[in-house]
Amino acid sequence: MAEEKELRYDPAAIEPKWQQRWAADPALYAAEPATCGKPKYYVLEMLPYPSGQLHMGHVRNYSIGDALARHMWMRGYNVLHPMGWDAFGLPAENAALKNHVPPREWTVSNIAGMKRQFERLGMGFDWATEVTTCLPDYYRWNQWFFLRMFERGLAYRKKSKVNWCPECATVLANEQVVDGCCWRHETTIVEQRDLVQWFLRITVYAQELLDGLDKLDGWPDKVRTMQRNWIGRSEGTEVDFFLEEQGAGLQEAGPSTSLRSAQDDSRVRIRVFTTRVDTIFGATSVQLAPQHALVATLTAADPALKVQVDELIEQQKKAREAGDLGAIEKHGVFTGRSAINPYNGQPVPIWVSNYILADYGTGAIMSVPAHDERDFEFANKYGLEIRQVIAPAGEDGQPTGEETPLPFTSEDGVLLRSGDFTGLKCGDAQLLMQAMAERARFGEAKVTYRLKDWGVSRQRYWGTPIPMVYCQSHCEGDGPLPVPDDQLPVLLPEQIEITQQGGSPLGRVPEFVNTTCPKCGGPAKRETDTMDTFVDSSWYFYRYTDAKNANAPFGSETVKYWFPIDQYIGGVEHAILHLIYSRFWTKVMRDLGMIVNDEPARRLFTQGMVIKDGHKMSKSKGNVVSPDDMVARYGADAARTYSLFAAPPDRDLDWQEDGVAGVSRFLGRVWRLTTKYAPAARTGRGQQAEAPAGISLKLLRKLHQTTAKITLDFEGRWHFNTCVAAIMELVNEIQAADAQLAAGDVPPPVLLELLRTLVLLLAPFAPHLVAELWEELGEESSVLRAPWPTSDPELAKEDELEVPVQINGKLVTVVRVAADADAKTLEGAALADEKVRGRIAGKTVVKVIVVPRKLVNLVLHPSDKYPSPGAQVVK
Ligand SMILES: [Zn+2]
Ligand SMILES: [Zn+2]
Repeated sequence: MAEEKELRYDPAAIEPKWQQRWAADPALYAAEPATCGKPKYYVLEMLPYPSGQLHMGHVRNYSIGDALARHMWMRGYNVLHPMGWDAFGLPAENAALKNHVPPREWTVSNIAGMKRQFERLGMGFDWATEVTTCLPDYYRWNQWFFLRMFERGLAYRKKSKVNWCPECATVLANEQVVDGCCWRHETTIVEQRDLVQWFLRITVYAQELLDGLDKLDGWPDKVRTMQRNWIGRSEGTEVDFFLEEQGAGLQEAGPSTSLRSAQDDSRVRIRVFTTRVDTIFGATSVQLAPQHALVATLTAADPALKVQVDELIEQQKKAREAGDLGAIEKHGVFTGRSAINPYNGQPVPIWVSNYILADYGTGAIMSVPAHDERDFEFANKYGLEIRQVIAPAGEDGQPTGEETPLPFTSEDGVLLRSGDFTGLKCGDAQLLMQAMAERARFGEAKVTYRLKDWGVSRQRYWGTPIPMVYCQSHCEGDGPLPVPDDQLPVLLPEQIEITQQGGSPLGRVPEFVNTTCPKCGGPAKRETDTMDTFVDSSWYFYRYTDAKNANAPFGSETVKYWFPIDQYIGGVEHAILHLIYSRFWTKVMRDLGMIVNDEPARRLFTQGMVIKDGHKMSKSKGNVVSPDDMVARYGADAARTYSLFAAPPDRDLDWQEDGVAGVSRFLGRVWRLTTKYAPAARTGRGQQAEAPAGISLKLLRKLHQTTAKITLDFEGRWHFNTCVAAIMELVNEIQAADAQLAAGDVPPPVLLELLRTLVLLLAPFAPHLVAELWEELGEESSVLRAPWPTSDPELAKEDELEVPVQINGKLVTVVRVAADADAKTLEGAALADEKVRGRIAGKTVVKVIVVPRKLVNLVLHPSDKYPSPGAQVVK
């Protein structure tokens, strides 16, 4: 019995033993100073939200990063592999509401629990650089950055329509609204409210954020495409139509009027944005958003119109709430007024419509029914004029004269009925018309972006207080005043009653709200909004490099050494928000002179999801597998290795518990094999091996081939699933030679190399087992500091290959040749083969196709009677 027990792989004994040893050696996973002389490697996984429990998606994410970090340590790099907590946010407040636990207490205790889980999984993090975003030593720098942005006009307040989730009782960013509902509350319809909000001017960097994507060739294409679409650049023209004065007749308005100098022009302008200024002679109405400033003026004088406009606003609101604003049924009302087209002086009716959005472009468009789908639909509904001004062009660049179905939306055409621009191609006309608008000062070429400024105000408690105050004596008007740097951090009060009603919870804490004005010393009130938690995650990875710095967010020299991040790893759900915000933050810090890199991360990897029973693992689906259960049942090494083995890392992984059990059995085989032969192998230490032959050569060849494959995969392909499979094959081959190993046919130095390298190859995936076996093999230093094995190409080379030979595409035989045999040798071997000779005797070989190492195919002439000239006749 005792002997049987000895032969059992027991992760429950091995793993805690090593975890204790690692915990006692903080230098093991610590980054070294820049002066260490080694090349640096910064591997980073996205930091988790401390919900209280790691899930299998985390295990997968962190197993990928940890394998890479371990590999890079073994390759001799100075590795930074940190971990932290994205610790502000709503769930802490919700938990407080439910369980009456203060958010900070709840968060801190969750962090402690998840940290234990990480340690039980054996993750190699440098905990000395741990960052917890909800602690004042971190969030004070959020405030500091906010002040720097305020000084530069990058942080500002404006009243704006906001998305309001009644369930969260807070404002949501546009990107947190999914199909009209809250991203956290999938069935709660988001409402629109007017609030004064803080914004960060990310749009200043729109073009740079777009251009930078071209250089990020270490990022997945799909992420770059998503960001490009999100930024949404479009080139066009802004043009002013002029409000026709009441009573002004058609006769009075002519081109000369519209082109008179702008300086003495007091007419009301209606600025529209269009990507097709070349169609402007076909504009038959101007359409305003119901919230357009001019609409308020017009409805003030016309109560009946106001009633109709209010209806449009209501329809728009409903559509927005239902999430199908794009598909809204189009309604509009005629205002009774007209606008003058500046290019021809002709008036067109002004309408107000529910499908024009105040926050897109200028909130006004020119409607060109003949050349735009949406305008065509609207014009048909309301009987507006449809005027064709673009026609398809023939080879000669002239209109073909053919009847064209409308709307004709192609830009590949020529202008008709367009004054001096008639006969021009669309593209040429656009340029000339822009130039004219600029000369006559009624418009300009304009690039617009879909990207909006980043609304960072949240009416919530558990976030970074915005460091602004409002003087009660109005010493700076009513404007916000920055909290002086030496008064940072503005601390979040600890004891607070959380309710879900009535705006920001901080507003109900007088000790927080009441303060003194930094200008006049009189009474003042603090800003009670807190920052969006995406602020926290926008720069946390810089803090890791200098986590204890009390005087600055980080030291610039340290960041210069570590940045950009060499490999960032996380879920594709962060492709837009987190990754655009952190790119923006990087550019702001660069412009503040704090850093020199333009982008935060050189390479980005987005891993697939973990699926079970056809669905993403989630509490609501009830299909969550607990990492603790898996660790208890099979060990951390098996759970980790399985999460890398079961699918390529970029694909979704279908969780199968059988698979974890299988990996656990495999690790058991490695353990038994190594412990069985370790005593013999140890005697080979320091011995010189003779030139290997026979079984030794066979096993060494497999070993070096496996080493080459895994090394290559770590260099970028990351097919860790096939890496683990290759190690399994290697183990099979060694086990198949068990009788020869037992008989001592493999000399100790070879045996030592076999087992030692096997352990090293497995080190990134199963760190506990490997540490145990490393010790078993008589090694004293940490396996993490052992050099990664190199593959000897001579040894890895197969010396003979079996190459199939076909005649007319049908397999006839295989020939054995040297692995590096060239085409000529291979052809000779095929023709010399007895079976082949029998089949082709007396026949004509028209062609010999040779694919070195792979295949020989002989093509015989279909008939013997008519040998082709020059064909080879085999005697
Ligand atoms: Zn919500
Ligand atoms: Zn004051």
